[in-house]
Amino acid sequence: MQRRRFLSRSAAAGVAAGFGATLKAASDAQSPSGPSSDLPSKFTPAAHSIPHSNYSPFTTPDYYTFADDLIIERNASNKPHQGKILAAIQAHSDDIPLFAAGTVAKLIDEGYTGYLIRLSNDEAAGSTLGHGVVQNDADIQEAAKAMGLKKAYSFYYRNHRMDDNAAIEIRARLIFLFRMLQVNTVFAMDPYDHYDENPDHIVAGKAVEGACWMAGGAKDYPEHYKAGLKPAHIREKYYHARSPQGHNLVNRVVDISSYIDQKVRTNMANRGKGPAGTAGARLRQQLARQGRKLPLLGNDDETANFAYVKHFLMDDFRILGRQFGLECAEAFRYIGPEPDYLGNIVKYAEEHSVPL
Ligand SMILES: [Zn+2]
Repeated sequence: MQRRRFLSRSAAAGVAAGFGATLKAASDAQSPSGPSSDLPSKFTPAAHSIPHSNYSPFTTPDYYTFADDLIIERNASNKPHQGKILAAIQAHSDDIPLFAAGTVAKLIDEGYTGYLIRLSNDEAAGSTLGHGVVQNDADIQEAAKAMGLKKAYSFYYRNHRMDDNAAIEIRARLIFLFRMLQVNTVFAMDPYDHYDENPDHIVAGKAVEGACWMAGGAKDYPEHYKAGLKPAHIREKYYHARSPQGHNLVNRVVDISSYIDQKVRTNMANRGKGPAGTAGARLRQQLARQGRKLPLLGNDDETANFAYVKHFLMDDFRILGRQFGLECAEAFRYIGPEPDYLGNIVKYAEEHSVPL
């Protein structure tokens, strides 16, 4: 994504117009007027637009489609996920931080051990291709730490060119990692994210989807088992959408209110890509050159970076949360464990069988 360009453009507009104009835009951002619609009353809307903060196009999708069995996932006490392993898979260094970091941090806090797996090399997000590779390589390590993840892996496929690689190779590498790490739960871009322009996201989503199924198979890549690996049974999937134009079917809204600061720090770790990084410090410096300051940015760069992300970039997650009575939320298409069909049949047979 061209996020750096967006930020530079915004910053340039601020300089050109003076910060009076920029701050007025910010104060207008949360207009109370909701979306208008010409949809005749005989139709029931299937996709819902909700208010946006207008501070960033890269946080929540333009539409939500909600399933009728949607549930709100709230904080769980007593580490219910102890012993479970999650993998957060992303095409790019900013995907998981922007769209799922609060929920990943929550599940780690609730007992999971977790890993970050990045598929591209993020070369398109730096001052040069080489700088993009190096900076984002460092950033993913810091982002993983901020979410409480144990380790970050990278496949280094060329950014925005991932469809140039054999899908079967990406899938096979994921199957290997899922088996090696004994993954139970994944986070990834929804493989059916509507209207997503970024070709890497679709490649990543489809690769994860296939790998989740095949990692448990006895006949797929049997040499893994000769080498000592065991099948991985992925029981839970959290699929997120890409903003602004992507959206997916949402059946789980996660309360991330207690983890919003971790999400902020995860995004601050992305210095090479995404709308966060050092944007707060740059805005503070830009204002200082005009003899001005924004009190919320504080008196040092670290405070400015944190406050910028929390105040501006997390606002859409607060607005989403409010729709559900929460302080902050992330939204997913969640696919949970399948029922024990065979066990149910055995149980039925035990209860209903009669002597010959
Ligand atoms: Zn991306």
